[in-house]
Amino acid sequence: MNRRRGLMIPEFKVTVSARDSERRAVFPSVARVCGVLLLWMAILVPGGWFLDAEDVAPGRSRFCEQRRVEYIVGNLPVILSAPHGGGLAPSTIPDRKRGTLVTDAFTDRLAREIARAFYKQTGRFPHVIICHLKRTKVDCNRSLEEATEGDPAAQRVWNGFHGFIDDARKAVLKAEGRGLYIDLHGHGHPEARLELGYLIKSAELALNAKKLESLEARSSIRGLSSRSQTSFVERLRGRSSFGGLIQRLGYAAVPSPKFPHPGKAKYFRGGYNTARYGSRDGGAISGFQVECHRKGVRDTAANRKRFAQAFAAAVNEYLRIHCALDIRKKRREAGSGR
Ligand SMILES: [Zn+2]
Repeated sequence: MNRRRGLMIPEFKVTVSARDSERRAVFPSVARVCGVLLLWMAILVPGGWFLDAEDVAPGRSRFCEQRRVEYIVGNLPVILSAPHGGGLAPSTIPDRKRGTLVTDAFTDRLAREIARAFYKQTGRFPHVIICHLKRTKVDCNRSLEEATEGDPAAQRVWNGFHGFIDDARKAVLKAEGRGLYIDLHGHGHPEARLELGYLIKSAELALNAKKLESLEARSSIRGLSSRSQTSFVERLRGRSSFGGLIQRLGYAAVPSPKFPHPGKAKYFRGGYNTARYGSRDGGAISGFQVECHRKGVRDTAANRKRFAQAFAAAVNEYLRIHCALDIRKKRREAGSGR
């Protein structure tokens, strides 16, 4: 455990970003000039793009903007982002004045726990991007203007967060040609169920199957149709939908076979990140938003651990069914000749 360096995963080791390491270095003349140049690049360029994800071992973290954004580099075709779980509130960045300012408590820890669960189940890591800056300072699930209200430091954090997601997307596409993006949140609605957002409105989810089928092109999982053998409605709320798969593992969700639509309850249909990084506008990475209720899912370490195992197992199955991607641990040859 190494909390001081922002690390919660014992077997994960932190790789200090170029920016942090270079501050400490004392170089002789030529090397110092190079160092200063790199330092300026780090300051001027958000996201630390000059350090490729490939240069950092899977399971290790990259940071940018004074460790306000973290990217646990992965090697699975799964990208997870947690934009609203951060707790850092430096006085140098003014509080935002408009919009939603509530923190999605413990979703940063939950994202880390999900990374552990994937490693346990597959021996590989998902790409995880976490904003450690509090939502009162920046909202990484909004457009730049709404997210930062013009503050330059908040803008750099926002750029760093989305730069890391871009890095993760490139790595996934290069390695597998396709993948899944999930934006992780926490809701405060009274219904104790996960809200899965595919950019389809609450009232639309209540339409009959034929009408709902026609909305596929507006959804964040539009791209799955090229690999999945199922209908869009099945992928959205059937037994093999993410809601159906996680429901079988003990967590209620909407949409799912049990709760095909939210009815009159409040419901989040997916926000800025889901629209930007899902496949509504094309591309081979589909995605959705997962809004977690608090009790039994993200409230205690034990509950987060249990939920993370179910979450990773459901994604595992979802990828196999709908993306033709098998990320399960390779079984050792039994050698029995059968
Ligand atoms: Zn949120």
